[in-house]
Amino acid sequence: MITKPITLNFPEEREVALDNYRGIHKLDMKTCISCGACARICPNQTIEMVDTPTDKGQKKMPQINLERCLFCALCEEVCPTDCLVLTKNYEFEAYDRRNFLKRPEDLK
Ligand code: SF4
Ligand code: SF4
Repeated sequence: MITKPITLNFPEEREVALDNYRGIHKLDMKTCISCGACARICPNQTIEMVDTPTDKGQKKMPQINLERCLFCALCEEVCPTDCLVLTKNYEFEAYDRRNFLKRPEDLK
């Protein structure tokens, strides 16, 4: 009663993630060079390179299964064009587990 409450009135109030927080991925499809390094380095086989339509035709780009992700950020570290990064976004809950499978177009 004499200290400030430690809970928040979610969703009106949101927790601010720490600088080194690792949340859901963001992919810049324009600068992805389809090298597949992110898929090869992933320790939990979370990333699959899938055919993705772009302005310049089909390209292979990373699809991420968040059910398997460890949020280790190795995929971000190895990406040669810095087009794949982990954001501070921690809001990716779902009622259907199929929604944890994120196609490249979903990772904006
Ligand atoms: S953060 Fe780690 S576990 Fe998740 S997709 Fe990237 S390399 Fe794989
Ligand atoms: S996201 Fe980065 S590491 Fe993955 S395929 Fe594209 S360029 Fe290569």
